[in-house]
Amino acid sequence: MSELGEKERATSGPARAVVLRGTGGVWVVRTTEGETHDAALRGRLKQETAVKLAVGDEVMLAPDRQSTQWTIEEILPRRSVLSRRAPGGRHGERVVAANIDQVLVVFAAAQPEPHRRMIDRFLVIAESSGLTGRLVLNKVDLVDPTAVRESFQDYERAGYPVHLTSIRTGAGLVALRDVLAGRTTAVAGPSGVGKSSLLNALYPGLNLRVGAISSSVNKGRHTTVGAWAHPLPDGGFVVDTPGLREVGLWGLPTGALDQCFPEFRAYLGHCRFADCTHVVEPGCAVRSAITQGMVSAERYASYVKLREEN
Ligand code: GDP
Ligand code: ZN
Repeated sequence: MSELGEKERATSGPARAVVLRGTGGVWVVRTTEGETHDAALRGRLKQETAVKLAVGDEVMLAPDRQSTQWTIEEILPRRSVLSRRAPGGRHGERVVAANIDQVLVVFAAAQPEPHRRMIDRFLVIAESSGLTGRLVLNKVDLVDPTAVRESFQDYERAGYPVHLTSIRTGAGLVALRDVLAGRTTAVAGPSGVGKSSLLNALYPGLNLRVGAISSSVNKGRHTTVGAWAHPLPDGGFVVDTPGLREVGLWGLPTGALDQCFPEFRAYLGHCRFADCTHVVEPGCAVRSAITQGMVSAERYASYVKLREEN
């Protein structure tokens, strides 16, 4: 960008932009016109607002009069917040990304084997932020897709779309690209399941390093490495959230864990005891739904496990 170009824009007034990433006070933002700039938060805004700027935030930019830099003048109201409790609890939530529309929970159908407790943990995190979850089972070229579809039926019954994908055969890629278009999607899942490979297959321009993002070398830095939003050619963004990958770092909601299992909701409020934990109490509507095969015993097992962790 030439200096003249910057000055021309200075006369055209403030621009709207989305925060792609940032560390140490410098934020990379992308304007509605598709230009990427470095920008700093206006000094006074830091004091005026309780809101801490996050990846995914929509902001208003203005050219800084003193330099060719851009300044973030205003943080626009958020549609949603994906957050986790700060390590150690106590100090409230930490915003990982703002304005997320959905959470893509990516696992492999094999190599590594999908871990149901971990899948459920990710879905609970999405639910507790009020976000839609989607389950991706990648590497279906290594397994019998029909068997996988069947063994993950309880997720579809709970209302979660399940995508079976493979970068080897191309299975499921078109449908996945369709649901990412125009939305802001946080991508979560353990290392080695093919998250980078999938995104590269969907959007060749993205050039994510396969096997690199979640390598063990990076593990120690995961608490400090922030989210990273990648603009998509179809509109929308995929947000790589290292914090979401390190699932152990995520706090679960303190109350209402049962509300984070959508298939339980129809039964909540129907237990004999108003404060039923659905674990030992007699007259529990949730457990009776499981006995009757209305709710998956596997999903319930995750609920019990996550409750114990809390
Ligand atoms: P990430 O850590 O989740 O980002 O996973 P990567 O994208 O780095 O992929 C991990 C490994 O799985 C790599 O060796 C990929 O080549 C392989 N992989 C990714 N997708 C598939 C797939 O659909 N089928 C098979 N067979 N292997 C895959
Ligand atoms: Zn109950």
